[in-house]
Amino acid sequence: MKAAAFDYARATSVGNAIALLAEHGERAKVLSGGQSLMPAMNLRLLAPELIVDIGALDELRGINTRESLVVIGALTRHADLQNDPVVAARLPLLKEAAAHVAHPAIRNRGTIGGSLAHADPAAELPACMIALNATIVVRGAGGERRIPAEKFFTGIYETMLSPQELLVAIELPLAPKNSAHFFGEFARRRGDFAIVGLAAQAVVANGRFEDLRPVFFGISDRPFLVTAAAGLTGKAATPEALSLALQALGDELDPPQDQAASAAMRRHLARILLARCVAEMLGRPDLNIGGKA
Ligand SMILES: Cc1cc2nc3c(=O)[nH]c(=O)nc-3n(C[C@H](O)[C@H](O)[C@H](O)COP(=O)(O)OP(=O)(O)OC[C@H]3O[C@@H](n4cnc5c(N)ncnc54)[C@H](O)[C@@H]3O)c2cc1C
Repeated sequence: MKAAAFDYARATSVGNAIALLAEHGERAKVLSGGQSLMPAMNLRLLAPELIVDIGALDELRGINTRESLVVIGALTRHADLQNDPVVAARLPLLKEAAAHVAHPAIRNRGTIGGSLAHADPAAELPACMIALNATIVVRGAGGERRIPAEKFFTGIYETMLSPQELLVAIELPLAPKNSAHFFGEFARRRGDFAIVGLAAQAVVANGRFEDLRPVFFGISDRPFLVTAAAGLTGKAATPEALSLALQALGDELDPPQDQAASAAMRRHLARILLARCVAEMLGRPDLNIGGKA
């Protein structure tokens, strides 16, 4: 199928893009990498009257450090996250996760801003944003808003962005000393969206978690920061404490059932991922007790 007819505007500046969005509102759609928008239009799931192409706005591209932050422009591609030395050194969770987003051809065009604005509940990067305590920077005719990633995702393909706003950047605190990360996902094939995935960031000192942020994706209508593992912070992790956390995880999650997996299967896979995450980050292979709660 082909997309319905639409008008096309190539934005000449961020201000021009915002003016077009302010004028056309819900009738317009921003085009970044086109890797989600174009398939949705070709399937006639979306039929915007106007496409605002921001692809030429180089000021929205790039990865820079500013004081204690890494600032990533909205048009930065998934492939850039995989290859950038600052991301590798200071945000290794993001580097690892980017390698799981689709396939090389899609990673060469798809952008971080597009992925966050699209807000697929099974996507990798939104979960990383919450694990890494990111702030999403959006701009509209009325000025700029800074939204904590934890609040940004509001449902399936839904965010706090209004149709008149552009996602311009993401601010990520530099990972503190003693940081550890974990990324894991179950998908039918490498490059597919996750059936269940886990992105986690932690601070580990003397073999204990001082802080742990496990964010599941593919298991809810949005990325989900679970509280089930809270009992593992501030004290030595034991197999019993982990077992309790896995039990609590099963209670906390309310996974969907679809053709990819039943709810029970997703719960089981989530427990496997949390056990792996804890064992790997603490360097304690004895704690990798699979999905057994
Ligand atoms: C075969 C295939 C497999 C894929 N597998 C995965 C996967 O495993 N994991 C995964 O996470 N993704 C996957 N994707 C999606 C891919 O990662 C996209 O790159 C991403 O979801 C959207 O980025 P984009 O830059 O292409 O955005 P676009 O397609 O251009 O836009 C997506 C949506 O976001 C809006 N938008 C884009 N940029 C902005 C902005 N700056 N401000 C406001 N709104 C904006 C658009 O209007 C549109 O509604 C897959 C895609 C394909 C085609």
